[in-house]
Order: sequence, then structure tokens, then C-alpha cells
Amino acid sequence: MWHHMMPYTPSQNPMLVSGGEGAWIIDEEGNRYLDAMSGLWCVNLGYSESELADAAASQLRQMPYYPLSHAHKPAIALGEKLNQWLHGNYRIFYSNSGSEANETAFKIARQYHAQNGEPMRWKVISRYRAYHGNSMGALAATGQFQRKYKYEPLAPGFLHVPPPDCYRCPFGQERASCHLECAAMYEQVINWETPETVAAVIMEPVITGGGMIVPPLEYVQQVREICDRYGVLLIMDEVICGFGRSGQPFGYQKFGVQPDIVTMAKGITSGYLPLSATAVRADLFEVFRDDREYVHFRHVNTFGGNPAACAVAVRTLELMEERDLIVRSAQLGEKLQEKLIAALREHPNVGDLRFFGFLAGIELVEDKKTKAPASSEFVSKVVAACKRQGVLVGKNGDTVAGYNNVVMLCPPFVIQEEELHLIVDAVVQALTEVGS
Ligand code: PMP
Repeated sequence: MWHHMMPYTPSQNPMLVSGGEGAWIIDEEGNRYLDAMSGLWCVNLGYSESELADAAASQLRQMPYYPLSHAHKPAIALGEKLNQWLHGNYRIFYSNSGSEANETAFKIARQYHAQNGEPMRWKVISRYRAYHGNSMGALAATGQFQRKYKYEPLAPGFLHVPPPDCYRCPFGQERASCHLECAAMYEQVINWETPETVAAVIMEPVITGGGMIVPPLEYVQQVREICDRYGVLLIMDEVICGFGRSGQPFGYQKFGVQPDIVTMAKGITSGYLPLSATAVRADLFEVFRDDREYVHFRHVNTFGGNPAACAVAVRTLELMEERDLIVRSAQLGEKLQEKLIAALREHPNVGDLRFFGFLAGIELVEDKKTKAPASSEFVSKVVAACKRQGVLVGKNGDTVAGYNNVVMLCPPFVIQEEELHLIVDAVVQALTEVGS
């Protein structure tokens, strides 16, 4: 009997994982699985990077802990590196998880407006189907009812707009002839709420956990323009899309926009130690720099920016630079896309294939024409059949609408190109086993 609680109870066939090598994990009985989800979207450098273990060990020996009301070299070095990757001038606040990074962003946004003479700006606009974390504010920002309803009431002031889902457009449009009604919705909501009450918009570059929803390029640009027009801050949640996953240092860079606040976690340490960060545009941060105490950003955490975690993060980013892993991620993403399209485009159970950098979503349907979604049970069977073939894939979607029908892929950047076909073959074979 294990005493730890799992994120889902009951958990399905939990493994006792005891080792890893590159993109593979190994269970207690010695079975090997190719991890096409990088754990929970984070182990970008794979499971056996001794350089990261060394970075943690040597920092722990030298200086294991001190609160960041002072400073230590790994935090300073990481701040410099992050600014290079962000292509901007940002102040960085360190925490421990993606949820905390987003909570921090909401507090910065609210306090910024209050100290900038607009204390009524406290609402945050997010999207249905988005996931932003498990804490009371980040969960309020989340647009997935099934994760929320048992824990309500959550933090007030979070509003949602429909997602930019071109396969199942909430506005009944086709991409070729639409007017990006999904982007225009932000302007509507800001006006309905009155702009003076809206603090921020939070979005991921693509909605990952809600079923890989990839917006058109102009959508993100249009949202940026709307935010600018109404004095609303744009928070980009790069918890999954950051650190090379998109084929760029950060996902927003693919859309040619610059956010006001960027939140990040997961890949920042390749999952080896807990760390997250909230980057705020340096000029916005000026409103917090004052000797009067009430002006300070008052937001303390004990462990955020732990020296070993920061040292691992610095080494993660250095290794990515030394080994050109962002370019590799982009190339592997293209290869995976080619293979998936060739193998699955005509498959009767595949409704849509969506890609962003080295991320892929395979939306499963009962019927290609009607787009009737495959049942959650069907998709679970596909995931289980992949596992029987030694490949771990994810499953996500829109359970509010009654379906959870997207198979997710987010492989480590260290996967060998020759191993990509194992993922594709496993999905094809699983669909044959379970399919119509
Ligand atoms: N934002 C996004 C986009 C995420 O995918 C996640 C986690 N999957 C979070 C925030 C929350 O991160 P954490 O689990 O580290 O709190």
C-alpha cells in the first residue's frame, strides 16, 4: 500500500517508476517506456542528464538555501539568461510551480494598476478550455468546469471567452471566411465589463491541456492590440510552451508579440527540481520601486528561487544553447508532423491533427463527417493500447462538452529521430486495435 495521494483518484494502473534513460522511463520490473509526454510536459532534456544532477549537487554543497529577500548568484545568473531568452527587459520573481507563477502574475497586475492610479482594474479575462493551475486564483482562471466545480467558490473576478478552436468554431465559422470573432470577443467583454475594471488577459500561446487548440497567427496579434487599446496587461502563460517547446525560446515569439508578463515553470529545469518564474516588464515594475512600504510588491515565499533549482535552470538553458536544442525541437516537431499526417490523415477516427513546435494533438472522432467526438472510453483504450506497446501518450480535451478526445504528444527534445516512428506506429496500431 502506498501512502501518497495521486492527482487523480483512483489512478489507473500506476507504475512504480525507478529509472530513466534519454526519452525512456524504466519501471521497477525493468519494463521500458518511451515517454511521449515528457512526464507532465516538462522533462525536455530526458531522464538521464547527469549535468543537471551535477549542477544541483555542487550548488547544494556550496550554498543550499537563502531567501530571496537577499540574493545569490544562481538567481542572478538565471535572471540574466531569462532576459536573453525573453528578448526583452523583465524583472523576474521566482516561485515553485506554474500555479504560483500565475498567482504572482495576477497580484502584480492588480497592484500595478492600483499604484498606477487605476485601483478598479482587478478582473482577469481567460479562455474556456484553458488550464492555468490548481490554486484558487489559477483555477479560477482555468476554463475547465470539471476541474473546478468541486472546489468553488474560487477567487472572484475571472472571466472567460470562447477558445479559438478552428475545428469546432464556437461561432459557427470556417477559418477561410471568418473574421476572428474569437479575438474580437475580448474587446466585447472588456467593453461590457467597462475597460476601467479589467486588469489583464491571461493566455497560453496555444491552449495545450484543453486539447491542443492552435490559434491563427493574427489572433494573438489582435488580442495584443486589443489589450494595448484598453490598457489591459497581457499575461502569457508559457508554462508548457516555453523553453524551446514551440521551436522558439518562448511560444509568443512565434506570433511576433511581446507580453507584459510571462509566466514559466516545467521546462525551466527540465523538471529536475521545482522552480517557476514570473517575468514582468521592467518599466511596469517601476511602480513598485519606492521607499514607502505600501508601494512594495509584498509577496513572500520560502522556497521560490532555491539556489539549487536556479543552478539547474541555468544549466538547462546553457545545455539547450550548447546543443542547439531549440532548433532540434523545431526540426523534430516538423518530422513528427510529417509522419503523423502521412499515417493518420485519412484514418476514419482522426478528425483533426494539430501542431505547434514539438507538440501535437490528435483529435479522435466517431465519424469524420459529423465530427461526432470519440468517447472518453475510446480514447482511454487508445492510450492504454499505446502503453502496451511501450509508448506513453497523453489524453485531453473538452470534458464539459462531454468529450475528452484528443491524444497529446509532447516528447523530450533528446528523443532520437529514429524513435519518432515508434510513437506514430503505436498510435496507428492502437487505433487499429480499438478503432471502428
Ligand atoms: N499553466 C499551464 C499552461 C499548465 O499546463 C500548468 C500545469 N500543467 C500550469 C499552469 C500549472 O503548473 P503547476 O502544475 O506547476 O502548478
